[in-house]
Amino acid sequence: MYDEDDLIPVSALQHVSFCARQYALIHLEQAWEENRFTAEGRVLHDRVHVEHHEARRFFRQEYDMAVRSLNWGLTGKCDLVEIWYSESKNIKKVSPVEFKRGREKESDVDRVQLCAQVLCLEEMFGLPIEAGQLYYLQEHRRKDVCIDKALREETAALLEQIRVIQDVGVTPGAEYEKRKCDRCSLADICMPKSTGAKNKQVYRFIQTQLQLARKACETEENHAG
Ligand code: SF4
Repeated sequence: MYDEDDLIPVSALQHVSFCARQYALIHLEQAWEENRFTAEGRVLHDRVHVEHHEARRFFRQEYDMAVRSLNWGLTGKCDLVEIWYSESKNIKKVSPVEFKRGREKESDVDRVQLCAQVLCLEEMFGLPIEAGQLYYLQEHRRKDVCIDKALREETAALLEQIRVIQDVGVTPGAEYEKRKCDRCSLADICMPKSTGAKNKQVYRFIQTQLQLARKACETEENHAG
């Protein structure tokens, strides 16, 4: 169980999934730059993030719902949580919906964020949640996302990566990738083309720490088993 002071924001998973250096610049160094992509995303979330709810007889929608998991050490907000009730008024199904600007991405960056919300909701409601949905503004439709074992493992691995970076307390070096860096809001601060070589040692050190942490977990699990 994690302490209230050690909770990781759900949004941090999205950042580390996109780029470990971007995560550290935002969460360790408090750097933040807005570009067109982040501005559009913010405007969309401002529209959604007005706390309210809508209810019908066996169904309820909660907008801008605060969530957390002490087991996973996570905290955040869900754009929308949909809740279904049985005739006896027990909660029988819970599912989050996350609103995104643009179109569905190839990477798991949005799915990981949804999975982290599911981990919180499962703990809060005491129910297994098998799926959530992503709504992409440009596509005007919701897309079902299966919260399967592989996605849960990927999310857990990213949480572990965040904790290692926090423990080390050093921002990893830049790994320039045109696809990512050209749309990154922190490109001007990061300067990936010129800072990459200088910081590669830090990146390697964090990867080594991560491997050691994973090995330690595997050894503990083997002993426990
Ligand atoms: S510019 Fe590239 S390397 Fe730098 S933080 Fe952004 S994505 Fe990461």
